[in-house]
Amino acid sequence: MKFIFFTGGVVSSLGKGLTAASLGTLLEHRGLRVMLQKFDPYLNVDPGTMSPYQHGEVYVLDDGAETDLDLGHYERFTSGLLTRINNLTSGQIYTSVLEKERRGDYLGKTVQVIPHVTDEIKSRIREVAATGKADVIITEIGGTTGDIEGLPFLEAMRQFRHEVGRENCLFVHVTLVPYIKAAGELKTKPTQQSVAKLREIGIEPGVVICRTEFPLEQDVREKIALFTNIPVEAVIEARDVKHSIYELPLMLRREKLDALVCKQLGLVTPEPDLTKWKAFVDRVVNPSRKVRIAVVGKYIELQDAYKSVYEALTHAGAANDAEVQLVRVDAEDLEHEKPAEMLGDVSGVLIPGGFGDRGTEGKITAARYARERGIPYLGLCLGMQIASIEFARNVCGLAGANSTEFVKDAVHPVICLMEEQEGVTELGASMRLGTWKTKILPGSLAEKVYGTLEISERHRHRYEFNSKYRAQMEAAGFCVSGTSPDGALVEMIEVKGHPFYIASQFHPEFLSKPTRPHPLFEGFIRASLEAKQ
Ligand code: GLN
Repeated sequence: MKFIFFTGGVVSSLGKGLTAASLGTLLEHRGLRVMLQKFDPYLNVDPGTMSPYQHGEVYVLDDGAETDLDLGHYERFTSGLLTRINNLTSGQIYTSVLEKERRGDYLGKTVQVIPHVTDEIKSRIREVAATGKADVIITEIGGTTGDIEGLPFLEAMRQFRHEVGRENCLFVHVTLVPYIKAAGELKTKPTQQSVAKLREIGIEPGVVICRTEFPLEQDVREKIALFTNIPVEAVIEARDVKHSIYELPLMLRREKLDALVCKQLGLVTPEPDLTKWKAFVDRVVNPSRKVRIAVVGKYIELQDAYKSVYEALTHAGAANDAEVQLVRVDAEDLEHEKPAEMLGDVSGVLIPGGFGDRGTEGKITAARYARERGIPYLGLCLGMQIASIEFARNVCGLAGANSTEFVKDAVHPVICLMEEQEGVTELGASMRLGTWKTKILPGSLAEKVYGTLEISERHRHRYEFNSKYRAQMEAAGFCVSGTSPDGALVEMIEVKGHPFYIASQFHPEFLSKPTRPHPLFEGFIRASLEAKQ
């Protein structure tokens, strides 16, 4: 088994996760089984309780782990299905070390960062290795080299290499080579210094991937090679991709990164066949049609808050030979502006997940607009709850219908706390999480879209549709088209007579892949293209 460690230098936001995932794509196409994992140095146990402003999207795995959004990239770029062991935080490490200390496991010893914390980190790599599901494990270390909180991780990696042998480990350092306009030059000093920082800790990277806005000329490559102690072919240029993040594996392939990594690790494999991946990228880059889709949310100004939703739209667009033009609508703006002004030129409306009442009235306005005008609608989690409240209020005349998340004593609690949630006091990892089965109603739009009557999807919610209102709403044209297998929990809803109005309590966006777009998204884009005509 081989181990690759990704570190980052100079600044954050270099796309280290995407770069690691892209190497994963290339190695997988060489016939290797690849597993990615992320180590996050922060003290939160997981990002589940962090604000999107801090952290972007919380990505949910099959087993219900709430993880870093890089795990979303890992699952989209490779076929490895990840579990909670693939995302380790300092919070988890310290929780485990302190639990052991209280149990008396270290009795007699002083508990220290080295060896107790570093042992904990190394044991996580071994745990992933022990699944037997990988030939290569790629571990990304969050943060930037030089961060105090990242030090135990780097020290653990150093020890790990010593234990499994140099020939089995490779350090890849992703760094920035900035262009200084006044000098008209790319500058290598920050890269030299961040690699020197790694050397101080006892780590020499075997590959340096340079994020740059301009081509790395030979002399620049040679300079980096000389001062970082690596062969010049191990200096890899990573320009900003032109159109799509899915170009990155192809770009790194042109730089021969995969061959280099295989050579350094002594891996003998066939050349990768990237025909399918290329065909997908080509469909993303050169679509023949366009479709405007509004995403109505409250974190619309952030790049990362709805990451998987945007990616799933891209996949579905490519499958329909169409570019999805995102219209990011701030839900709060819809509370004082006319919906026609903000949604007048879109062919589909999507409301993603969310928490808290800010912007919900604006979302209700958007859902109503889509329902009344026959505009395709896709609601995800909160987007289903919003659609239900809207229908209850404006079709069934249930004034004051709401979710008890927003109004505790709502007159008509159409959305309310799940029974299992009553009495839950801790916020961390206490929602209904992970993969659950859904039974689909025969003859429904859901059946048409999925082509099957039983599905499994990932969840992350605390509130649910209140079945007390089901009969009354169904009599008025509302349709519950998916439920939990025992029929108790509402999982999907539709509006009868509308060309495409569908919403789910689960998060389909987490299962969409470039070459396997999610049926709900694919159907939504197809319907939006038809609506456009
Ligand atoms: N806030 C809602 C709930 O907890 C919706 C959650 C979500 O959209 N992920 O049920």
